[in-house]
Amino acid sequence: MTDLDSLAQAINGCVDCGLARSRTHAVPGEGSPQARLMFIGEGPGFNEDQQGRPFIGPAGQFLDELLASIGLARSEVFITNMVKCRPPNNRDPFPGEMEACSKYLDAQIEAIKPKVIVPLGRHALAKWFPGESIGKVRAKARRFGDITLFPLYHPAAALHNGALRSTILDDFAKLGDLLRAPAPVPEATSAEAAPAPAESGPQSEQLSMF
Ligand code: SF4
Repeated sequence: MTDLDSLAQAINGCVDCGLARSRTHAVPGEGSPQARLMFIGEGPGFNEDQQGRPFIGPAGQFLDELLASIGLARSEVFITNMVKCRPPNNRDPFPGEMEACSKYLDAQIEAIKPKVIVPLGRHALAKWFPGESIGKVRAKARRFGDITLFPLYHPAAALHNGALRSTILDDFAKLGDLLRAPAPVPEATSAEAAPAPAESGPQSEQLSMF
């Protein structure tokens, strides 16, 4: 059993916040345990709650399309959410729910050790960049220790606002550029909530993703 399997077991039995009462299934996340690229959304929706798998509804289908646009398959990355259980009626997760659930995400990051983390949308963004606007910091790489953060709009944004679809595709193309030919990534200068940077190499260190 891997660390991720143990975490999934713990998540599936977790009752540490009120979302445990309304969920059908917890959604720990899925993908490669050796993924170099990790996507973090907000929380499971209706379809995800029904099946216990992340990003399988319309937003997930768009995410698959976005991954394919940069030559990646879902099995090559790891996909999870800030909270592992569905907020009722798809409301925003409460701060206390995200706080209660953060231990699982932190442990997943520790187990997988991704090179690049893509926060999808403002809730995931706030874990590293509290108070910043997703519209302003999207598709810009910043480095925390050994990890590069590359925030993007949540794919669901394109379902609510069709004009964002081409923007998100363009932003994913920039992510593909970063993975293929990484340029130096500046160290983050804000984000009080950011985890302490680990020992790291020079700022010009390349990601060497694939
Ligand atoms: S959302 Fe997270 S903390 Fe809350 S019950 Fe589900 S797994 Fe536990």
